[in-house]
Amino acid sequence: MAIPNTRKRLIAGNWKMNGNIRSIDELSEMSKSCDVHHCEVIICPPAILLSEAKQIMTNTSIKIGAQNCHYENSGAFTGEISAEMLVNLGIEAVILGHSERRQHFFEKDDLIKSKARSANNQGLTSIICIGETSEEKHLMQTDTVVINQLRNSLPETFSHSNTVIAYEPVWAIGTGKTPTADEIADVHYKIREYIAKVSNAETSNSIRIIYGGSVNPKNAKDILSVKDVDGALVGGASLLEKDFSRIITATEY
Ligand code: PEP
Repeated sequence: MAIPNTRKRLIAGNWKMNGNIRSIDELSEMSKSCDVHHCEVIICPPAILLSEAKQIMTNTSIKIGAQNCHYENSGAFTGEISAEMLVNLGIEAVILGHSERRQHFFEKDDLIKSKARSANNQGLTSIICIGETSEEKHLMQTDTVVINQLRNSLPETFSHSNTVIAYEPVWAIGTGKTPTADEIADVHYKIREYIAKVSNAETSNSIRIIYGGSVNPKNAKDILSVKDVDGALVGGASLLEKDFSRIITATEY
């Protein structure tokens, strides 16, 4: 029996280390243009703005996510923030394993897995990022790299409702370059196939796999209409209210 596709599209904005208290005014604008019901919208500002962002978005359908969390609930981990603390603030999701954290903070799959487990245990949605570097792509290692990252960073607590997988080719992040539609479709298909292998057809058909890497208002519609693409993780274009809302509009078809 065919399992119906129940995947609601997701557009998540990763502000990275950008924004300040003035950006909160812009968030109010975003709350007007991005408060939609046809897709889920999550904005992930820097940790210091989470509280204000959450307050501004109260009474809207826009969710607020974090860009990182620690795997322990509390303790002697100076400078860190736990999943439990995020939940206390009303935060609903967390980006984990972003390539910038892998590259600049030397995060490895097993650490990402512990963080994702903690996030899931606390009721947060983990947006787990995976993707190949340009060198790996040229060596035709994309599938191997992506599936290995997935195998090693997905915790046993994962389900279609507490986890989103973000395929983000490292070479596409912030560069203006994107893979072809066929390349994106192929990787997303392989990810879904892997999920079916380690769980079941229902989970595989229900889990959301989103694409990230230079998504902008011009290419959003084409990327979002690729088979098995359930949304986008947006960096640079999420900082501008007009661009971000146009990407959200591109999910309407
Ligand atoms: C990202 O940082 O996750 C990202 C996709 O960035 P950009 O959209 O700027 O390429």
